Amino acid sequence: MFDALLVTKDDDDNTSAAITQISEDQLPHGEVTVSVDYTTVNYKDGLCMSPGGGGLVRSYPHVPGIDFAGTVEQSSDDRYKPGDKVVLTGWRVGEAHWGGYAQKARVKADWLVPLPDGLTPRQAMAVGTAGFTAMLSVMALEDHGIKSGPVLVTGAAGGVGSVAVAILAHLGHEVAAVTGRPETSDYLKSLGATQIVAREELNETVKRPLEGETWGGCVDAVGGAMLARVLGQMKYGASVAAVGLAGGAGLPATVIPFLLRGVNLLGIDSVMQPYDNRLRAWKRVAQDLPMDKLEEMVVPAVMADLPKLTADILEGQVKGRVVVDMKG
Ligand code: NDP
Repeated sequence: MFDALLVTKDDDDNTSAAITQISEDQLPHGEVTVSVDYTTVNYKDGLCMSPGGGGLVRSYPHVPGIDFAGTVEQSSDDRYKPGDKVVLTGWRVGEAHWGGYAQKARVKADWLVPLPDGLTPRQAMAVGTAGFTAMLSVMALEDHGIKSGPVLVTGAAGGVGSVAVAILAHLGHEVAAVTGRPETSDYLKSLGATQIVAREELNETVKRPLEGETWGGCVDAVGGAMLARVLGQMKYGASVAAVGLAGGAGLPATVIPFLLRGVNLLGIDSVMQPYDNRLRAWKRVAQDLPMDKLEEMVVPAVMADLPKLTADILEGQVKGRVVVDMKG
């Protein structure tokens, strides 16, 4: 028996979460059983833990947790053997399949990635889905060419934003960080941001479809009015990696920045990334994310903290990356 944060639904469709002892034979099918060392809290985990599962959870009882890192216990797939360190992100784990909010998980071998050299399970979860997505965003910007001038990161004090700031700064880019929390300025500067932009400055709706050419690239975790505004401020031919919608799913923009400035809007999806891309991105994380900066982002937690932290992240109240010690 082992502990799991089990979410159940009653006859009136109300959901509730409790740490519950479950057995291995309750785990879903999969080739690999993993002893979960660390998991984390992403925006999507907040949605999965919210009433109704945010429209993401398929069935109850459910174990949320969209990512985890741990040690292989059993495997019927040749690629993995007991003792191997692995990391999982995406593939609707924690949504359509039981996830990392339990001390053991059973998943398809195809969904796992071996931990790259130099990265511990704890560090991998300090990165987590949010940081992995930040890396994918930087790689997408690189593929399309980062222009001269500052690279903008929106939602900068959040999970995706914090890691994007640290990676871009480490790669030698000037980084402008947009935040609605001025008290995080010192934190963002310590990660490498050279300029702090107040959220209000970019939240106004678009009045002119084009403004001064300012940003050489952008990682956008916010979407909505802010993304629309930013599109008109990009340098000629520059790209925006659109990651999230913390500020809204609508896009009140015009086509003008695309037509007259050749701006690229690159959609980033971390969920269905093929194995080779996932491996490449995790290797880049190990190489291009300074581990001392990663440590600054860590908010340590244990399983009992998950209900509060998953609610906090939906309110935009989590700074950096929550790392949950599942054996703690
Ligand atoms: P966080 O909650 O950690 O960060 C989001 C940040 O956005 C907040 O910290 C806040 O930053 C800012 N923010 C929140 N609300 C608003 C608002 N109303 N207006 C403007 N800014 C706001 O979440 P994550 O970093 O984990 O995820 C960010 C987004 O990316 C989410 O929408 C998430 O679903 C998405 N995502 C997408 C992935 C993909 O594969 N495409 C993978 C991972 C995440 P600050 O306080 O600095 O202003």
